[in-house]
Amino acid sequence: MGLLQSMEIDVQLRAERKEKLPAAQFGFGEKVSDHMLVMTYDADAGGWNRPEIKPYQSFSLEPRALVLHYGQSIFEGLKAFRRPDGHIALFRPEQNIRRMNASARKMAMPEIPEALFMDALLKLVDIERDWVPAEAGASLYIRPLMFGSDAVLGVRAASRYILCVMLSPVPPYFVPGGKPFKLLAREDCARTVAGGTGDAKTAANYGRSLVPLDAARREGYDNLLWLDSEQHRFVEEAGITNVFVQYADRVVTPPLSGRILPGITRDSVIRLLRDEGRTVLEQETDIGDLVRDIDDGRVHEIFLTGTATVVAPVDEIGFRGRRHALQIRDDGLALSLYRQLTQIQYGLAPDRHGWMRAL
Ligand code: PMP
Repeated sequence: MGLLQSMEIDVQLRAERKEKLPAAQFGFGEKVSDHMLVMTYDADAGGWNRPEIKPYQSFSLEPRALVLHYGQSIFEGLKAFRRPDGHIALFRPEQNIRRMNASARKMAMPEIPEALFMDALLKLVDIERDWVPAEAGASLYIRPLMFGSDAVLGVRAASRYILCVMLSPVPPYFVPGGKPFKLLAREDCARTVAGGTGDAKTAANYGRSLVPLDAARREGYDNLLWLDSEQHRFVEEAGITNVFVQYADRVVTPPLSGRILPGITRDSVIRLLRDEGRTVLEQETDIGDLVRDIDDGRVHEIFLTGTATVVAPVDEIGFRGRRHALQIRDDGLALSLYRQLTQIQYGLAPDRHGWMRAL
């Protein structure tokens, strides 16, 4: 494997492919396809090396590998869909590549050449096209991951990195008519801090969420509704989703304050809402006001957006020991947005914004 001089990609295929079972038989990410994409970076040897597509396999890492100690690890999540005519298309992959580079900058990691990364990613999905499920609501989840791999104990940014992309056929996280989400807002913990890493898709943000998440689940909630770290007042995001609140005359979502992940589904939903002529405000929402508005019947809907979830309604917010319930509407905005977005993704509605990238 030489240094990156051309756009060539080395491809080494497995002799035999694994059996493909229906995505519904597995949990999210339990199953992985036959091949992965790997790109390595070495600051002392000219930067990025030529991408390789090879059989999915383990890495060998020294115990001193910097990522294991100091957390230089970033990832992404996007999906490929099979259309009725058999064609495969990815949803806004250039946005994920751009966000991965934003995460890289935040974590002192090298940026990935975008055109090369896109070519290699599309080539991997093309080689694995038989892994894109045909079942309704199922898709091929694409997980890029990058981490610092040098073996040294001093605290510093790594000079060597491994970028890999793995593929996993997944069932839908949420389907219309499925169980809505219950969220718990807590004032004694925060996902991230102002000036921190909330807007990066980096491992520690997720590691930190696990203890409060487990506690919320034991209380019957599906996830946390995170509040800001300073005043524990402003709604930020929920689990692996962004949050929207619908009132009679407007839809409100937290601003891109640097503390939340700039969701690609969030951006898409804002555009779909504005296409419909709705007012969308990117505005701080005070949790006290929100639960009061829920109890007063002023909140029409709360819904969550994300790659895995698409758009899913919330039917309860817990705050200060009280449960605030919301009515779920079959004709509500959440389900309408779910349908609009999935129809674009599966090629059943016109792609007016040019979001789909066909193979
Ligand atoms: N917030 C967090 C913390 C997430 O992990 C995700 C999932 N990537 C989202 C929001 C939603 O982002 P997207 O719509 O790009 O999937």
